[in-house]
Formats: sequence, C-alpha cells, structure tokens
Amino acid sequence: MSINSGTIEGTFERLQQSFSLGKTRTYEWRKAQLDALQRLLTENKTALLSALNEDLGKSASEAYTTEIGFLLSDIRHTKKHLRKWMKAEKVSTPLIAQPGRSMIQPEPLGTVLILGAWNYPLQLTLAPYTAALAAGNCVILKPSELAPASAAIMGRLIPRYLDGDAVSVIEGDKDVATRLLAMPFDHIFYTGGENVGKIVMQAAAKHLTPVTLELGGKSPCVVDANTDMATTARRVVWGKWTNAGQTCIAPDYVLVERSCTSNFLARLEHEIHRQFGAQPIASDDYGKIINAGHLERLQGYLQGQDVIMGGESDAQSLRMAPTVILNPDIESTVMQEEIFGPVLPVIEVSSISEAFDFIKRRAKPLAAYLFSEKPDVQQKMIDEISAGSVCINDTMMFMANPALPFGGVGHSGMGRYHGRFGFNTFSHHKSVMKRSFWFDVAVRYAPSSARKRFI
Ligand code: NAD
Repeated sequence: MSINSGTIEGTFERLQQSFSLGKTRTYEWRKAQLDALQRLLTENKTALLSALNEDLGKSASEAYTTEIGFLLSDIRHTKKHLRKWMKAEKVSTPLIAQPGRSMIQPEPLGTVLILGAWNYPLQLTLAPYTAALAAGNCVILKPSELAPASAAIMGRLIPRYLDGDAVSVIEGDKDVATRLLAMPFDHIFYTGGENVGKIVMQAAAKHLTPVTLELGGKSPCVVDANTDMATTARRVVWGKWTNAGQTCIAPDYVLVERSCTSNFLARLEHEIHRQFGAQPIASDDYGKIINAGHLERLQGYLQGQDVIMGGESDAQSLRMAPTVILNPDIESTVMQEEIFGPVLPVIEVSSISEAFDFIKRRAKPLAAYLFSEKPDVQQKMIDEISAGSVCINDTMMFMANPALPFGGVGHSGMGRYHGRFGFNTFSHHKSVMKRSFWFDVAVRYAPSSARKRFI
C-alpha cells in the first residue's frame, strides 16, 4: 500500500491484530508466503530488472546475479530448511529438574519493520523480508526512497502476491521512516549508514524494541606480494566496481606490499578494461551513481589526490569511471569516510604486519579481505582482524554461502542474517521445560531445616 491509502498507525494496528489471531504462525502460511515471493520474482523478472536499471543502471546480468537470483536462491534454501528450523530443539535436563524435559522453541516476534537501503534495493529489502516471513512475523517494509523505481515496483507487486492482512509496503522518505519508528514494533531491521543507524536505535529504545543494524564502514583489502596477482586484480575489480562501488562490502581501499605495487596496478588496469572495456564510463556493464549529490561527494574525494587511473565522470548520465588514487593522505576525507563509490585508494605498506596494524587502529569493518598464498598470513588475518566477515583470496563471495552469517561488528553493525541466521534474528528462542508429577525432590522446599545436611 502507499502512504495515502491508510495511515501508518492504522496499518500497524491491523498487522498487530492479524498477528494476535495466529495466522502467520503455521508452517503452511509461511511456506505459502515464500512461494508467493518466489512467483513474484520469477513472473515479474523483466519489470524488476528494468526498475534496477532505471535506479542504478545495473546491467541485466549483474542485477539478476546480485539481486533476483540471490533472492531466489535464498528463498529456495529457506523453504528447504524451514520445517527443521521451526522445530523445537531438545536439550538435556539436569538431575535437579528430573523427571523433566527441556527444549528450545523458536517463535515469531510479532510485527516487525524492515527499512531498506538503495544500493541493492531488492536484495537488501527482500532478503530480510524472506527471513521475517519464514519466522512467521507480520512485516512492514519501507524501501529506500533513493531507488524510487524499485520502491514503486515492490509497493505495487507485494500486495498482489502476498497476504495483505500480514504484510504491507509503505513508501516514503525519512519523515515516513520517522513516523514508522515511533511505533512499538517487535523488531526493527535497518540497512544503511551509521548516522541513521543511531537514530533508529534511539527510536527503538523508547519501546525496548530490539534492532538489527546492517551498517557499513571502510572494508580493507590487503595484497601480499606472494599471491596470484592476475586473479587478485580480477577479483578486486569485480568486488570494487560491481554496482559502481556502491556495495557495503566492496573493498574500500587496498593495502599493498610495496614490492609488488607496480605489478598489482598494471594488472588492475588490465582487468578494468577487460571487464568494462576501453571506456568503462560508457559500458552497459558498468552502473551509475545513485544521484547527483553522491556523484559530487565522490568527485570531491579526488581533490588534491594522485589519480592514477580514471577520474572522469559524466554528470548527465551520473557515471564515474573506475578510479584509482595512490597513497592518499590518511587524514584526507577519502580515507576518513566510507567511499561507497568507484574510487579505490591504493596504499603502499612495507609489510603485511604494517597492513594489519593499520586495520586494527581503525573501526571494525563490515568485511576484510586478504590476498595471500601464505597459510601463516591467512591464519594471522583470521586470528587478528575483527570484522563482520573475513574473506581470503576473494572479494564478496562469502555472501553466496547461506550457511555463513552476514552482519557487522562494532561500528559496522549489530545482528546478522542470511539462511538460518535470518530465521533466528526474527525469532524468539523460547525456553520450555516440562515437568511431571510422579516424583518430587522435597529438598528445595522450606522448611530450610530439611536442607541443612546438603549445605
Ligand atoms: P541511509 O542510512 O541514508 O538511508 C537508509 C534508510 O533510512 C532509508 O529507508 C531512509 O528513508 C531512512 N532514513 C534516512 N534518514 C532517516 C532519518 N533521519 N530518520 C529515519 N530514517 C531515515 O542510507 P545511506 O547512508 O545512503 O546508505 C549507505 C550506507 O549504508 C553505507 O554506509 C553502506 O555501507 C550501508 N549499507 C550497509 C549494508 C549492509 O548490508 N550492511 C548494505 C547496504 C548499505
């Protein structure tokens, strides 16, 4: 529904009412919603791809892989495991509580809010949505207003396919988000920047509503001299310039061992042209910047820097070339803010230890990457670098594994989802103990004189 066809408060109450009637709790309802979402994505693939192209200039193949295809595989995985995830897990019962049985029963939280982001407008809204439905919740979705074509198509299609008593799409800007945040939701799942994350958490605190915050940060990428440089460059280019760098887990900057800088840069340039052609800015495989404000912000990062590749942009088409800057001043804005665009600072270090120290002195990132063939360096990365996820010898691929949790740590966020972790985020794990009457150890009851000999 749109904001005009009913008040936010009315929608919230209607969904709460549906939840209290219990209709979302059954396996059948959950499965039917997941089936419906799957149908929505497959039957409207062309329209969805064109909305993504309109908002972000995504090519059909990139949009399919990173958004629709990702969601379909997430839904299939969820449906495959749903019955098992919903089951109570039996756990042991100590002697003191015998005879008895203990179990952990997942139950839905109630009515939850999902505030989506604009960079992967379908994936980052509908993946948490899949998890929330699988866990049996009523859901209000607020897509990001910065990707209006994607927001509009979700607003149009979701009510046609899913159960309108239990789900609703409310489109709008931050004023709508503010009104939604005033409601006593049972969980809020937010994807976006750190500043709004703090606003969300503050609003949630008024109702003691738990939050999941999927935020961002500067994800580092360390390149060891001892690595397959051609494949390293290929994977860095893919991770950095997919969606024109507007990916929360894109490598934000590279720390490269000085002895291999020129080899790395040469391979990087070769790969940029191999993947996006001689003029990436004109390539259909290369996305656009979300709006003029963000393009200006990104252009601003180049002031006073040593731009060694790219640098050009086109305000008309909102495109900015894959751009590499060498050894920026660490105090400059490009190294202080999350870039979230196609600018890649490459910083030379004299050793891998220096690179790790650099990362450890900064806020914990959402992702951290290492390219190295040395097992001891790989292990050091896993042991020493705190990040939402660590990925060795690739970028972003950990996202493709639903068995791995996805989420940040410290300033890159709190909570996690994907696969079972998403189901758990939107469920309460209720402790259940069942006792029987046939035997009773009297020692726990007063009078205390009866307990004395056990103390
Ligand atoms: P944002 O934080 O400005 O907006 C996201 C959502 O918040 C939108 O729905 C918007 O309507 C709402 N919003 C904006 N201002 C608000 C306010 N004052 N009060 C209440 N709601 C408000 O999005 P952004 O900062 O442009 O997104 C980019 C950031 O998101 C980057 O830091 C990126 O790393 C992060 N991100 C993280 C993930 C992840 O999965 N961890 C994914 C994508 C983006």
